[in-house]
Amino acid sequence: MTDMRLSGAAVEDSHGTAPTSGKRWLKATLIGLHSQSRHSRTLAFRVPGWTGHAPGQHVDVRLTAADGYSAQRSYSLAEPSTTPDRVAITVDLLPHGEVSPYLVETMEIGDELDVRGPIGGWFTWTPGDPGIGPGPVLLVAGGSGVVPLMTMLLARKRAEDRTPTMLVYSLRGPRDLMYGRELSEMSVGRSGSRTESDPEVRLVYTRVVPETHPRPASHLRREDIALPSAWPAHLAARVFVCGSSSFVEHATGLLRAEGYPDDRIRTERFGPTGADR
Ligand SMILES: Cc1cc2nc3c(=O)[nH]c(=O)nc-3n(C[C@H](O)[C@H](O)[C@H](O)COP(=O)(O)OP(=O)(O)OC[C@H]3O[C@@H](n4cnc5c(N)ncnc54)[C@H](O)[C@@H]3O)c2cc1C
Repeated sequence: MTDMRLSGAAVEDSHGTAPTSGKRWLKATLIGLHSQSRHSRTLAFRVPGWTGHAPGQHVDVRLTAADGYSAQRSYSLAEPSTTPDRVAITVDLLPHGEVSPYLVETMEIGDELDVRGPIGGWFTWTPGDPGIGPGPVLLVAGGSGVVPLMTMLLARKRAEDRTPTMLVYSLRGPRDLMYGRELSEMSVGRSGSRTESDPEVRLVYTRVVPETHPRPASHLRREDIALPSAWPAHLAARVFVCGSSSFVEHATGLLRAEGYPDDRIRTERFGPTGADR
């Protein structure tokens, strides 16, 4: 799908990820591109009429070809909402996918598509908002599931929030790492050495491990999600898990085994989405 053009036509509600009634499709113009890994990139759009969003929410993206065929997919919002009329998404390439190759490899500055949102109010965390209760925050990401969790971390950083927070990020190998620079800066603070208010970041490599990394390659294990014992009320943490359905199943199984009650765990599944017409 390389010849997508904006149609601007209104379309019925999408694929049932969350209510979208009342949300209008808005024209989005690509204004920024930033490579994240060998197969993913962040795209920033100017979207007149965008009214802002909370960390963790997502957006529907619609591409429309010259013959009227359109395809839509969901993407998490990749930045906290600080600038009016701005939306950013980070897209991982699915090699034989329909939409992600266009967004990762083809779309150029000035190109347009449609967006609708923000969508979802359940999988959100905003600094200062008690949300699902007080306590530390545990973020568990599989692959591109790191995107909404990174937006939460960026919002936490901007607000200078000191809630004890840990990100556990499972990925295949170092070449798949997204937000490497931001994560390393964020987890060692301005001073260059980690302080108590900096988030703890644990990288879990499942296939290829960098030479200096202490943990051998394996899928996410129970000890990977164990919070530092020094943290207060560590089992009262709010937990956000995001990734493929199989990753979310695996991670929530480990969390339950670790003793987390279901009402502390919120999940977002990046399964296949979309309505093609
Ligand atoms: C709420 C939500 C938020 C999302 N946020 C992001 C995000 O921030 N970044 C991001 O890169 N993706 C995200 N996704 C996934 C995204 O919506 C698309 O599914 C993905 O980009 C693939 O689309 P495609 O058109 O390239 O592939 P398709 O043409 O839809 O699929 C091609 C093949 O791959 C399979 N497939 C589709 N999607 C996936 C998937 N995610 N994992 C494994 N197999 C799949 C399909 O079943 C099909 O066989 C999100 C999904 C949801 C539901």
